[in-house]
Formats: sequence, C-alpha cells, structure tokens
Amino acid sequence: MRLPVADRSAYTCYSETMTKHDPSVDPRDAIEIHPSDRVVVLTGAGISAESGLKTFRDSDGLWAGHRVETVATPEGWEADPELVWQFYSQRRRECRASCPNAAHYALAELEQEIGDRLFLCSQNVDDLHERSGSRNIVHMHGELFKSRCEANCGAPIIEDSNSYNSLAEIPRCACGARMRPHIVWFGEIPLEMTCIQREIDRCSILLVVGTSGAVYPAASFVHWARMRAGTPARTYYVGPEAPLNAVAFSRIILGKAGDKLPGLFRVL
Ligand SMILES: [Zn+2]
Repeated sequence: MRLPVADRSAYTCYSETMTKHDPSVDPRDAIEIHPSDRVVVLTGAGISAESGLKTFRDSDGLWAGHRVETVATPEGWEADPELVWQFYSQRRRECRASCPNAAHYALAELEQEIGDRLFLCSQNVDDLHERSGSRNIVHMHGELFKSRCEANCGAPIIEDSNSYNSLAEIPRCACGARMRPHIVWFGEIPLEMTCIQREIDRCSILLVVGTSGAVYPAASFVHWARMRAGTPARTYYVGPEAPLNAVAFSRIILGKAGDKLPGLFRVL
C-alpha cells in the first residue's frame, strides 16, 4: 500500500526547486536499497536547522539570558515551570512558522516507496517529518506539540499546541498535577528505546542525518548496527561536517541534507 505524502501546495514556502537533485551527487554514489533491505534513519538537529529551527548549540547554551539547563531539566521545571513553559511556547511558535525542507520530503518519499521497511527515528521534537508525510516515525526525545502529566499518573499524553506564559495558564491534569511538555529533558531516559533497538538489530542500512555524534545513546546507534551479531549494517552519514563518531561509518557524505538526500536513494 502506498502511503499518502503531504500535499506540498499546503506549504507556501515550499519550492519545487527544493527537490531538484544536487548535481554533485553522482548517481553511482546512490545508496542502493534492495527488496530485502530494511533501513533505519536517525535524524538530528541539523535537518531541522536547515528549516531555520535553532539548536541548543546555536544558542551558545543560553536562552533569553538563562542557561539551557534551567529550561531543559527536571530540576529547572521544579524551580520555575513558568519559565519552562515560556521557552517551549516560543519553540512551538517558531516551529509553526517553519516548513519541512527537501531532506524531510526525501525521507517521506522513501517511506512511500519502501513502506514499513523504513523506520525513522528522530532526535528532534518538531513535527517537520510528519508535515512532510512521514508516518513510521518515533521521536526519542519527545514531541513539541504534546503535553503530559508531570506526576505520570497514567493519564494519556495529549496533543497540545497552546502557549502558556504565566503560572495561572499552566493546565492541570485530572489528577491535579501540572501538565508539562512531552519532552525528554537532560537526565531523563529517551523514549521508545526497545523499539529502536529492535529496528537497529534487524536493519541492513543505517543512515544518520545531521547529528553531532555527541549525544548518547543516539551516538551509539552506528556502533550497535555494526557490532551486533550477524552481518553488520551498511552505515552512512549525511551532514555538513563529519560527526565525532565518523570513524564508525562506512561512508560520510558531506553537505546539507536538503541537497544530498534527494536523489541519494536508488530503490531496486
Ligand atoms: Zn495526572
């Protein structure tokens, strides 16, 4: 079954030129995907940065004069939930104002071609993959447009695109506790790790896009794919500069993801 890909005309900033293949990508360098291949793609901050969304690294560790730790740790939430919600409310606004880029669309189109043989794992909390049409995706660091009970009372995670700028505006769970962003903060355990481990164990191709190779456990995925029992996966990296764990990849493809991903895959 072919999966629906988002209607590009819905995004006013989308340009047809975005999917034109980079003439520097030699077709002979394409990643061949055979009918027996299973592909895992890990995306990081670099792919969102190409859509204009800032990363923590861009901010020099500061946000509005505050250390990032004060808005991205459980301790920061306990100390000042108003400040934390102001931070994530601003990120929601910035995300809504941004659009998927050619790299997001290339991955959505690959999913359309090979279906559930593509497993997409993102370190990003934005929804740009979903807005480009990706469906088989997990967000290991949470999702910007969801909120959950701070007390983990068992109430379901909710879709939430609202802004909260004062203590009085912060919504309450039915149990009485406050709702917090559905974000994995520093010191918390990433989500979906069992599922991610299973997919890496059975993949034959691992493609990592736009991560520094400095954040664990994601930086370990390439090692899992190569060191597991059986045939090692073919491992590829795409980004403007080599990651810290570059030595673990079969091939490093230097360049913007939006330039390199369209035309990179040859589905056989
Ligand atoms: Zn609750």
